[in-house]
Amino acid sequence: MRPVDMRVGVGTDVHRLVEGVPMHLAGLAWPDETHGLAGHSDGDVAAHAVCDALLSAAGLGDLGAQFGTSDPAWAGASGAALVEETARRVRAAGFEIGNAAVQVIGNRPRVGSRRDEAEAALSAAAGAPVTVSATTTDGLGLTGRGEGVAATATALLVRRPA
Ligand code: MG
Repeated sequence: MRPVDMRVGVGTDVHRLVEGVPMHLAGLAWPDETHGLAGHSDGDVAAHAVCDALLSAAGLGDLGAQFGTSDPAWAGASGAALVEETARRVRAAGFEIGNAAVQVIGNRPRVGSRRDEAEAALSAAAGAPVTVSATTTDGLGLTGRGEGVAATATALLVRRPA
């Protein structure tokens, strides 16, 4: 029997917290937050980490290589839109998406309070299960000081038989 060709990938992202910017995180809007994430797109670190994990597993590089921070077509793009397009490219490269998992690292927003919604939003975008978890860093580092929010993700792909 031919062994199943599985590939894992890893992704990380960090964006700066800025007062008065709308918060978009894990495929959701967080209208009660006073600070949001700055970036070329909507700054959704969780979505971006998922994209990088998918691209890493597929051997397609990373978000910068695929979409380019200078490409105006993706300026202001939602995290969910980037996940959807990334998933399309990964499938076009010959893979099925097994799952992805992302962990958000930061003080706010409290992702756990809307975990089900976040998982539904990112899973719908990826067309595969995406699980979401969150942690803090005991007040240490850039996330602990509230300077930014980070996320790290993994993804598992299965190569379609030729
Ligand atoms: Mg990013």
